Amino acid sequence: MIYGFFGSIPGCPHNRGNHALRGNGKTLSLTFIGYLDAQRGRHVISNYKTSFSEYVPVEEIARMVVEENVRDTTILITEMQVYLNSLGVNSGDLKEFIGSVVGQSRKRNTDIHYDTQRYGDIHPRLRVQTDRAFLPRKFHRDGEPCSLDRCEEEHIIYLFQHDPYLNDEVIRLNAGAFTDLYNTDEIIAVPKKKPKRRKKEV
Ligand SMILES: [Zn+2]
Repeated sequence: MIYGFFGSIPGCPHNRGNHALRGNGKTLSLTFIGYLDAQRGRHVISNYKTSFSEYVPVEEIARMVVEENVRDTTILITEMQVYLNSLGVNSGDLKEFIGSVVGQSRKRNTDIHYDTQRYGDIHPRLRVQTDRAFLPRKFHRDGEPCSLDRCEEEHIIYLFQHDPYLNDEVIRLNAGAFTDLYNTDEIIAVPKKKPKRRKKEV
């Protein structure tokens, strides 16, 4: 399966209202889903550090996926668009990577979960193959949506499913209960600059 966790999805009914644009809990939700897999005894790898997964740089994860060198594993990729962008728009590398992600997720008992800020940042080829698209929203204990990017109040993350569409949230996460799973300040998903392999066709 491929799961996507998004910061915003234009046009989605769940997107309505005055919610914080950033910090909506997408990485927490991604991490939580991975954590559940780890609890079930699954091997989990991620391109950021967590308390339960094996850290593997995103370029290495991509290589493993393309070479089909991964099985029985849950893969967590935060800020997926950074890696996709590094491959170039519509490049052969990009198509190969997306094709491999899709292929791998359909066999060998591999699940790939990613988060990204905007729905439109994910290449349509990958988006249509994403089995579940989630839009987390941050609420306060009193049920009011949180509209601040930085806010010290307690938060409950409502995980809404945009595709296939479900009206009610599928999970409510007490954000404070899972802050030990990963260090939000430590997330670095920027891939190394890669020399351009393909010249622009003239
Ligand atoms: Zn708040």
